[in-house]
Amino acid sequence: MITLGIESTAHTFGIGIIKDKSILANEKSTYTTKKEGIIPAKAADHHIEVCDKILEKALKKAKIKKQDIDLIAFSQSPGLGHTLRVGAMFARTLSTTLNKPLIGVNHCIAHLEIGRLLTKAKDPILLYASGANTQVIAYEANKYRIFGETLDIGVGNFLDSFARYLGIGFPGGPKIEQLAKKSKNYIELPYVVKGMDVSFGGILTNLKNQKAKKEDLCFSAQETVFAMLVEITERALAHTGKTEVLLGGGVACNKRLQEMITLMCKERKAKSYVPENQYLVDNGAMIAWLGALMYNAGITTRIEASQIEPYIRTDDIDVKWR
Ligand code: AMP
Ligand code: MG
Repeated sequence: MITLGIESTAHTFGIGIIKDKSILANEKSTYTTKKEGIIPAKAADHHIEVCDKILEKALKKAKIKKQDIDLIAFSQSPGLGHTLRVGAMFARTLSTTLNKPLIGVNHCIAHLEIGRLLTKAKDPILLYASGANTQVIAYEANKYRIFGETLDIGVGNFLDSFARYLGIGFPGGPKIEQLAKKSKNYIELPYVVKGMDVSFGGILTNLKNQKAKKEDLCFSAQETVFAMLVEITERALAHTGKTEVLLGGGVACNKRLQEMITLMCKERKAKSYVPENQYLVDNGAMIAWLGALMYNAGITTRIEASQIEPYIRTDDIDVKWR
């Protein structure tokens, strides 16, 4: 079975094509800016502009024709309304013109399922660290439960906001990572873990009031917020008795975060898994894969029920495919 997956929850328009368990294509185009953050309407314009081209590229890469597609999957939740709508429209159009079934999927769960496909992780805790989302997720009693999450902004937004303040552009995470490598001088910052949750707003304000060197601030920001994420991930491991941690989301591309998670896992005799970068960031392949899993469990989405659901949470979805 060949599934085409469409990702459009935020800055990235992506199309992935999978055949059974193999990924045939994973093409994308990402909306970026020099100075400001994401402007939803402009990101949607970007997606409209690139969607046909990305589809063509993906079909070419997969060496298939449109007619070979058996199933159309798309990100239905959660995300920015403007950009989700572009992906949903594109998916509905393909589904009706090709007369193939449609399936709407949850983006956060897709990050976890692609990790399970590509690594040896079987029943992991997912540390999902992206721009808008920061959640510690694990499977329990037919749902992917959120064991801990940010109480305000996502860790990626935190890094991007700080980068914007420093004037180093968007996305800021990779630039902060490079600057952080040049320092070992830790400046004490607030450490905000509340139960299983974290919060970044106060740390951002504190950073903006510091007078230290850029490099020292980037280093200290990373050490602090990553330690917070590692702490709640470790607590989720202890609570659930699970023995695997999977990373997902763009911030998980950060080598220091990967190192800290690996270290924690080693100390607890747990295993850590990191898919390659193209599957950590938002991508169409993960949407296709989750769509295929759900379809094989007997689920499809009728056109009339294919409206976007920007606020649906990870634990609102009944997991019928596990
Ligand atoms: P996503 O929303 O999952 O596509 O991830 C985008 C976020 O990942 C943005 O906030 C980026 O700044 C962040 N990001 C990407 N690469 C890195 C990195 N190497 N270190 C930290 N954050 C990163
Ligand atoms: Mg994401």
